[in-house]
Amino acid sequence: MSHRELYCDVCEGVALFEVPPCVDGHGIDCPELICTGCGAAVVITTFMVPVARPAEGRRHRPARRAA
Ligand SMILES: [Zn+2]
Ligand SMILES: [Zn+2]
Repeated sequence: MSHRELYCDVCEGVALFEVPPCVDGHGIDCPELICTGCGAAVVITTFMVPVARPAEGRRHRPARRAA
């Protein structure tokens, strides 16, 4: 069980969040957290995932032709 402190809008302050029992198979990577103070569920959306985009903005489009 991993806990983390996050700001809770309902509690209007920093509260302790815990990962709920995940039924989606995310395991410890489940983005959902439950506020232990009020029970509000939040989904973490602050993952800093760099968007991998090719420098050149165009892509070759292979001609799709059924031979
Ligand atoms: Zn989950
Ligand atoms: Zn709360």
